[in-house]
Amino acid sequence: MADEFDYDLFTIGAGSGGVRASRVAAAHGARVAVAEEYRVGGTCVIRGCVPKKMLVYGAHFAEDLEDAKQFGWTIEGKSFDWVKLRDSVQADVSRLEGLYGQTLSNHNVTVYDERATITGDHQITLTSGKVITAKYILIATGARPMVPDFPGNEHVITSNEAFHLDAIPRRILIAGGGYIANEFAGIFNAFGSKVTIANRSETILRGYDESVRDRLLQISLTKGIEFCFHSEFESVEKQDDGSLLVKLTGQDARVFDTVMVATGRVPNIEGLGLESIGVATGRRGEIVVDAFSRTNVDYVYAVGDVTDRVQLTPVAIREGQAFADSVFGGVEPYAVDHSCVPSAVFSHPPIAAVGMTEGEARDTLGTIKVYHADFRPMKNVLSGRNERSLYKMIVDAANDRIVGLHMIGPEAPEIMQAAAVAVKAGLTKADFDATVAIHPTMAEELVLFK
Ligand code: NDP
Repeated sequence: MADEFDYDLFTIGAGSGGVRASRVAAAHGARVAVAEEYRVGGTCVIRGCVPKKMLVYGAHFAEDLEDAKQFGWTIEGKSFDWVKLRDSVQADVSRLEGLYGQTLSNHNVTVYDERATITGDHQITLTSGKVITAKYILIATGARPMVPDFPGNEHVITSNEAFHLDAIPRRILIAGGGYIANEFAGIFNAFGSKVTIANRSETILRGYDESVRDRLLQISLTKGIEFCFHSEFESVEKQDDGSLLVKLTGQDARVFDTVMVATGRVPNIEGLGLESIGVATGRRGEIVVDAFSRTNVDYVYAVGDVTDRVQLTPVAIREGQAFADSVFGGVEPYAVDHSCVPSAVFSHPPIAAVGMTEGEARDTLGTIKVYHADFRPMKNVLSGRNERSLYKMIVDAANDRIVGLHMIGPEAPEIMQAAAVAVKAGLTKADFDATVAIHPTMAEELVLFK
């Protein structure tokens, strides 16, 4: 490797993509440094997927303890302590942060706990004033919550702050109808908040199959979550008692204790010095890259949310791995396949999907076959919980290939991870039919579609 540079690779951002790329590049023999201005682990580990999933687990006990009655359990004096859950989640986040840091040091990656700015060709300057040169630069700075512009928006929180609340709000308004809004609606609802979701459009979870979205909406309404559609903020005003007076379009002003905004995320590119070497960005502020994650500047690459391709952790990890293998691993450069990426929404109940929705399949394939399994899981029957699951399979009628699978129901993401392998591999409905069911399970519905 070229010794005229301090490092072979300098990574900006130690999140999922940056950590994977740095450690793999180092394992391939590169001299690597990474700069992280906040905490090693990035959004997913520190204030995203991981602590969110722990809160989802915590929230689920509300229903599980209720359901336990019909299974013979008497639970007296049950109560919920938010501060205890919050602090144990944060303790585990710190543990994981430590492990991520250890992974980097075990691979001899130098970590600078400060902000890095590109200040010239192959050159980075740290907040401390230290100037570093690198043969390659990888930008993996992720994204941050986008807060729309309206009077009083300084009073709202985002998911970043939701993990650190002093108390569970009695009344919470969540703006947005996407992943974060629906996941946190389920969490706060289970902890006893009166939850209202307000979205600018008439839908939730755009991009997911209409049937599963409708089912989540119905179930959420039954649980007491309120939805306001075609609603945007006109203003938020802080009142003397600390509560927030919120005016949404077309509605009377209402009072909430907390307003949380979950209206998408924007790439973190500010102050990176991209202009100093002419790195091109797109309309949404994303760093524009080719299939190999290379920018228009040949030694600068970018992976993960800052490129706004698919804003999911496992995708960023794949991109980081592909970059490191391709540039430092001595293999033929390879691109990440962004098609047929399975995903999940950890709502109550969760949604999971892979491949095309029914609408997309109709538009692109012409003739399709659609199979439904609409059932009440055995556990819900016995517990008296009137909550039905829905599984849906979309098949290309021309060749029997499964092109989409959509599920809402308990453990849907766990089931989907395995089923997605089959869909990605191009298996047919006949292949599923030929597989014997495991009885009694919910997942057996996947091989029993009629
Ligand atoms: P989403 O993209 O999921 O949803 C954004 C929501 O905000 C939509 O309902 C959208 O409306 C609305 N919206 C968008 N722009 C505006 C605006 N300018 N003003 C008002 N409303 C607006 O974003 P999230 O913030 O929920 O999550 C960000 C990303 O993080 C997700 O896209 C996902 O990639 C990732 N994520 C993944 C999770 C998972 O894998 N389980 C969990 C959490 C986040 P409309 O209905 O019109 O589209």
